[in-house]
Amino acid sequence: MKTILITGGAGFIGSNLCGRLLEEGNRIICVDNFLTSSKENISSFLENKNFKFIEQDIVSPLFIDENIDEIYNLACPASPVHYQNSAIHTIKANTIGVINILGLARAKNAKIFQASTSEVYGDPLEHPQKETYRGNVNPFGPRACYDEGKRCAEALVFDYFRTHNLKIKVVRIFNTYGPNMAPDDGRVVSNFILQALKGEDITIYGDGNQTRSFCYIDDLVDGFIKMMASEDQVLGPINLGNPDEFTVNELAQKVIESTGTKSKLVYKDLPIDDPTRRCPDISLAKEVLKWEPKIKLQVGLVKTIAYFKSKI
Ligand code: UDP
Repeated sequence: MKTILITGGAGFIGSNLCGRLLEEGNRIICVDNFLTSSKENISSFLENKNFKFIEQDIVSPLFIDENIDEIYNLACPASPVHYQNSAIHTIKANTIGVINILGLARAKNAKIFQASTSEVYGDPLEHPQKETYRGNVNPFGPRACYDEGKRCAEALVFDYFRTHNLKIKVVRIFNTYGPNMAPDDGRVVSNFILQALKGEDITIYGDGNQTRSFCYIDDLVDGFIKMMASEDQVLGPINLGNPDEFTVNELAQKVIESTGTKSKLVYKDLPIDDPTRRCPDISLAKEVLKWEPKIKLQVGLVKTIAYFKSKI
């Protein structure tokens, strides 16, 4: 049995990861400050003797008595609405917070997995995005707290590897969706599904021709576990995401078809620095991790719609 620390474990991705790793027989220590996550996401684990919860922000140093084998650092607001509302805190989580977690990993001699993001590519000029692309990020725009924060976090993780020979794993996560997404986090999939289920207007930002590639949560969690289990020389960064690319208009049509809603489309202003196109090149994940997503958007949407229906 491994002891695995998951920071941000009550969030959308974190809680799905906690569930899977508990099922696989591990002991989980989940740390979260509930800034953008919810107690409900982890309520079903609280009775499990292999699950321990610590309410804490990683910006404060974390002291843990027991041995830890692996750490997944997922602690950070991740939706544009949330990270822009907590911009300075987002930078702190990705700098001070990441240094705290790296220090803990060193003290425990634990392997550390850092959740990075497709946002390190900014509004990409290369398409699809390969890990070798250095990105097109606005360093002082409203998304910079997250984009530059995550870029700095990558730099820190690699410096701890070079300086202290820490075992590191870095993945760049592309748009992901599924059960346990926060209904209020303003992301396109959760917004569209909730609007459709409530019969409200579906809000398309800009002309809706911008693209994203949506990965279902179960596929992403598979990728995380494969990355953590990969050989020590596999450091990353490795893209994890679904390479099927859709425009926001196409996504809206799929949500309309899957819910049978009578909601109308309304067009609103495009947020500043909203990337025009985003699609991962996952050749590296295929080759090194033998991983690729299996769940088609249509199938994942049906599961996610069922989840949100049960919540409203
Ligand atoms: N978007 C939209 N309507 C919404 C929410 C988002 O059209 O109600 C657009 C947003 O402008 C972006 C895309 O959907 O182009 C994905 O947005 P999201 O916030 O989910 O994630 P991002 O990839 O921008 O981090």
